Amino acid sequence: MKLLVSACLLGINCKYSGGANTCPQAAALLKDHELIPVCPEQLGGLPTPRPPAERIGSRVLTQDGLDVTDAYERGAAETLRLASLLKADGAVLKSGSPSCGCGRIYDGTFTHTLTEGDGVTAQLLKEAGLPVRTELELMEQAEA
Ligand code: SF4
Repeated sequence: MKLLVSACLLGINCKYSGGANTCPQAAALLKDHELIPVCPEQLGGLPTPRPPAERIGSRVLTQDGLDVTDAYERGAAETLRLASLLKADGAVLKSGSPSCGCGRIYDGTFTHTLTEGDGVTAQLLKEAGLPVRTELELMEQAEA
C-alpha cells in the first residue's frame, strides 16, 4: 500500500518555521507501507522558512495579510499529480495546517484556534477520492 505523508511528520525540516513535526507513528508506517513524502507548500514554490499562513474562507493569507492562495493551490495540484502518478492509496497529513489539515484547521485569526475545515491540499485529495487521515488518528490508534 502506498501512502502520501506530510514530509514534516517524517522529520523533514519543511515546516514554515524551518523545523519539523516529527511523528514516530508516521515513520512506523514504513514497516508495511511505501511512503511518499510531500510538502505541498514547498511544492507550491514557497521558501522555508516562510511566514505562517492560515485559511480564511477560500483564501490563504499570511499574518501580515499577504494573499498566498496561488502557491497553496499550486502545491495542492502538484501533490495530487504525485498521488495520481504514483497511484497512492491514501494520505496521512499533518493536522491543523492550511495545506495538510484534515477536518480541523486554524481559523484565520492566528490565535491557535481550530475550526472545522480542511487544508487546501487535504481538500483537493479528498475531492479526488483519496482517503486522508491525520497523524492524530495514528497516535490514537497507537494508544488504543
Ligand atoms: Fe508539513 Fe504540510 Fe506544512 Fe509541508 S505543508 S510543512 S508537509 S504541514
